[in-house]
Amino acid sequence: MNEPNTATHNDLETNDTIIKIVGMHKWYGDFHVLQDVNLDVARGERIVICGPSGSGKSTLIRCINRLEEHQRGKIIVDSTELTNDLKNIEKIRAEVGMVFQHFNLFPHLTILENLTLGPIWVRKTPKREAEATAMAYLEKVHIAEQAKKYPGQLSGGQQQRVAIARSLCMKPNVMLFDEPTSALDPEMVKEVLDVMISLAREGMTMLVVTHEMGFAKSVAHRVLFMDYGRIVEENTPAEFFDNPQHDRTKLFLSQIL
Ligand code: ADP
Ligand code: MG
Repeated sequence: MNEPNTATHNDLETNDTIIKIVGMHKWYGDFHVLQDVNLDVARGERIVICGPSGSGKSTLIRCINRLEEHQRGKIIVDSTELTNDLKNIEKIRAEVGMVFQHFNLFPHLTILENLTLGPIWVRKTPKREAEATAMAYLEKVHIAEQAKKYPGQLSGGQQQRVAIARSLCMKPNVMLFDEPTSALDPEMVKEVLDVMISLAREGMTMLVVTHEMGFAKSVAHRVLFMDYGRIVEENTPAEFFDNPQHDRTKLFLSQIL
């Protein structure tokens, strides 16, 4: 966790943009929750999004795989624009994995079944192959020995690692994380962050909503700060933490650091 962050834009393999958001707005009824969001994410880039509660962080990342619909502007993922076209939505969801604060595992299915459900039913992967892939990812998150258990028999940290493995089984090109450690007891935060750090080291494109500033410092290429539905500041972690520009960012940092 405390290793120096050597991430720079130069270590990104390409300059190829995997997510492009242009002039995007979203309303919940009359409430203008996202206001003119513009963001380009390069393939392999790792972005941490922070900001006060209610600033629109979850809504923003939920728009990227259409768990929420935007009303104005464009969201383009790997050259496919998100519209109401179901084919496009399916294509984008196939590329974009998501991990939530509250794991969202199916309680009545075993860990292994949670991991193979999507590949078998959505991807039509043969069961044996889906299980082999699932076991490989469970090993990667150090939890293979729990494959036959049910989510309720695992700790929060273990369940979140299962949720990450479940997303990886769908072979995403981008992973979105929405406060993946905020529902965990403190002693379990590290085991989940370590899995995320190893994913980062493998070059996964990641957008992570988190207040874990140690994580941001060690793996992010960029930190975005949101307030009232806008990205108000973005910078490299070093600049962001040591030299915040906006008063709102300074206030936020003074409260969490
Ligand atoms: P954050 O993740 O930064 O805490 P959210 O994106 O969850 O912020 O929410 C941004 C704002 O939108 C908050 O004021 C929240 O109450 C509101 N909001 C979130 N979801 C809905 C919804 N489904 N309907 C109406 N308002 C919502
Ligand atoms: Mg949120």
